[in-house]
Amino acid sequence: MKRHDVVVVGGGPAGLAVAITAARRGLDTVVLERASTPVDKACGEGLMPSGLAALERLGALSHLDMRDSSPFVGIRYVQEDGSTAEGKLPAPGGLGVRRLALSQALSSRAREVGVDLRENSHAVSHVRTPDGVTLETPTGPVSARFLVAADGLNSPLRKAEGLDVEREVLRRYGLRRHFRRVPWTPYVEVHFASGVEAYVTPAGAERVGIAFLWEDGTVEGRVGFDALLERFPRLVEQLNGAEPDSQPRGAGPLARVVRTRIADRFALVGDAAGYVDAVTGEGLTLAFACAESLGALLPDALAKGAGRDTLLPYERTFQQVFRKYAWTTQGLLMLARRPRLRRPVVRLLGRAPWLFERILAAVVS
Ligand SMILES: Cc1cc2nc3c(=O)[nH]c(=O)nc-3n(C[C@H](O)[C@H](O)[C@H](O)COP(=O)(O)OP(=O)(O)OC[C@H]3O[C@@H](n4cnc5c(N)ncnc54)[C@H](O)[C@@H]3O)c2cc1C
Repeated sequence: MKRHDVVVVGGGPAGLAVAITAARRGLDTVVLERASTPVDKACGEGLMPSGLAALERLGALSHLDMRDSSPFVGIRYVQEDGSTAEGKLPAPGGLGVRRLALSQALSSRAREVGVDLRENSHAVSHVRTPDGVTLETPTGPVSARFLVAADGLNSPLRKAEGLDVEREVLRRYGLRRHFRRVPWTPYVEVHFASGVEAYVTPAGAERVGIAFLWEDGTVEGRVGFDALLERFPRLVEQLNGAEPDSQPRGAGPLARVVRTRIADRFALVGDAAGYVDAVTGEGLTLAFACAESLGALLPDALAKGAGRDTLLPYERTFQQVFRKYAWTTQGLLMLARRPRLRRPVVRLLGRAPWLFERILAAVVS
């Protein structure tokens, strides 16, 4: 049986970014993705400036079909009473990218740099051996010197490795859908209502994505896309009867606590490595930053046997990047969940855009 250097389970943005980085450094890299590419997923689809820079470093930006993307200049909060606050992001701003287009760009780039990307191929189980790992797949075993688990929020590999931390966490869920309509704003809009937020992202010349996030128990009755949309009369008005451009797609619960990201010849990356919430729209940026760090470390780690100790620089980078993301996310969540605190804060930011922009710059830098 052929032995690869690296096998990545999960061909989402995190898995493909690790694979591209590792393959560009000369490692024989295979990716197993259970779906066919391009892969869709519930996502707000807003890429922050540093995520955009990572996409360029990975060499995937030039593969992106710009007809499925829209630049956005900043973030606008819209409250129940119509009060707003808007702040510009640092240059060059962000990019709304239809998830299918992002997947297509990263998959093409991965294949271009020699990654063996296998669609419709999933890992059923894995065994770590003293010098590598063997995965069971429906089409036979796959063997490699190193296993990267990039298998998303629910990460079966994380569970199998016993790295989940069972803790009482906020149970928030997400649901998104697209509509065929010229975007009405160059901002990502965050609309607030009681117990639920709506994130509106331009994702193409004639496409707007709407993603809802809400907390378990705060929304009464059946939680469906149309029922959530009804809570936002301003959005219904803006959509003006526009036709849907995708089926609703959900995810959750979002928060995941993970003991550690590394073990001998094994690492977790992306949502599988730990997640707080989508409220700041930073999941992709975080995934790219960590994936690049892991992919760049792998040649050296493998040369030294890829034991847990050789992976510590990755764990440290993760902690550093994740800590900042977690603080920001917890802060924004605290505001979103307390309307009586949130309303005056947003009004204040509305009167002082310079303050909002400073906060945004600090958060996304
Ligand atoms: C409602 C919502 C809105 C969001 N909005 C934003 C936003 O605006 N901006 C932003 O940056 N982030 C946002 N995020 C977060 C972002 O979507 C994630 O952080 C990002 O998708 C993480 O990428 P990933 O590769 O780790 O995981 P995923 O994208 O989930 O990819 C995991 C892949 O693994 C595959 N897989 C799983 N198990 C197996 C297996 N056993 N074998 C083979 N393949 C397997 C899956 O098919 C999937 O393709 C949002 C998330 C939600 C839920």
